[in-house]
Amino acid sequence: MTLRRALTLALVVASSSAFAQQPIVLHAAHLLDVADGKLLTPGEVLVEGERIKEAGAHVTHPANARTIDLGNSTLMPGLIDAHTHLFLHPGNEGLQTVEESIPQRTLTAAAAAKADLLAGFTAERDMGTEGAKCADVAVRNAINHGEIPGPRMRVSCNAIDILGGHEDAIGFNPEQHVLSNADFANNEAELIPLMREQHKEGSDFFKLYETGKDSLVGDEFHSPYQYTEAELAAAVAEAHRMGTTVGVHCTSDPGALYAARAGVASIDHADQLSPETMKLMREKNIFAVPTFAVVEYFAAHAEKPASAARLKAMDAYHREQFKKQLAAGVPFAVGSDVGPFPHGTQAREYELMAEYGMTNAQVLHAGLINGAKLLGWADSIGQLKPGFYADIIAVPGDPLTNIHVLTTPTFVMKNGDVIRDK
Ligand SMILES: [Zn+2]
Repeated sequence: MTLRRALTLALVVASSSAFAQQPIVLHAAHLLDVADGKLLTPGEVLVEGERIKEAGAHVTHPANARTIDLGNSTLMPGLIDAHTHLFLHPGNEGLQTVEESIPQRTLTAAAAAKADLLAGFTAERDMGTEGAKCADVAVRNAINHGEIPGPRMRVSCNAIDILGGHEDAIGFNPEQHVLSNADFANNEAELIPLMREQHKEGSDFFKLYETGKDSLVGDEFHSPYQYTEAELAAAVAEAHRMGTTVGVHCTSDPGALYAARAGVASIDHADQLSPETMKLMREKNIFAVPTFAVVEYFAAHAEKPASAARLKAMDAYHREQFKKQLAAGVPFAVGSDVGPFPHGTQAREYELMAEYGMTNAQVLHAGLINGAKLLGWADSIGQLKPGFYADIIAVPGDPLTNIHVLTTPTFVMKNGDVIRDK
């Protein structure tokens, strides 16, 4: 190779890497400060590579930067959903393990991940594949490798359940040996090896079913607990040993009290919580994740009027409890349980939590700052701060006065890459 040719090649390499590193300045009418619950005017973010370099009303404009003017919109952190199911889709809950193969479901999950990202969800905690084993690990890895578009994921493999419990394939002909939606562990001796197996296969955290079938009689909400307090404590200790956490499906006491005493990271659904449980959750910063959106969807799409009435009564009960939980200072994260209802529509959960008693600023704090904590990314997502990942969306208006703007983001950036720019 001649010196001239070598120099030319070096220049090409230098300029192409310079292009890849080209800083981006996002400019919009406003920027949301989630921690302070206020809007800055105008709003700018300087992005270098996958990270935020500066954010505020005005940032440095490097000479080589590309500026993206987002007009009369508000820049804010990408949305977080702390309770998703990439492996579920509407109309086939419960029968997917029977009718669809795991490879089929994995491809559908990849499409769901894309839909969620395009809707502005840049990070999610996926609460169980519901029978697709650890295929969520493959989806998460493919996203991380840039092979498919999707949110930053925390995945749990199959949820863990007791035999005959919440997600066992009850109601099917036993002679068919229908595959259930969970992995089974009946006691501490079975929990620990199963958790180690899931961890080995790449799970980020563990999901346990702590309550079974729900019933509401008059004003009394009941759901039988599944694991004892000692069993949950053993599971949490094992998760902590591996540097991770446990989230529980848990609709009521005493399971919620056992879970809170054991030190789980979140109590998902949380329809009924006793004063003692709420106090513990506040003291230990255990997040409640109400998942209102899925119940609303199920009630609206129930085939039998009796089912719709039952779901609506449960929902009304939960809304009243939610107000009590808010008053008691229970910390919340925002999780929609999307999957049984269409992926990409789950900003509905943010709307419902505002409708049911939170201020918009509280919902945004719960969704973004608490969500980031629950996902184990408190120092890298959920706020527009220097050093954080450039997971940024633009919404057409002020989410502090109009939460509905979250449902129609006009711009989505994840990890510094522009995913969507209307
Ligand atoms: Zn769920």
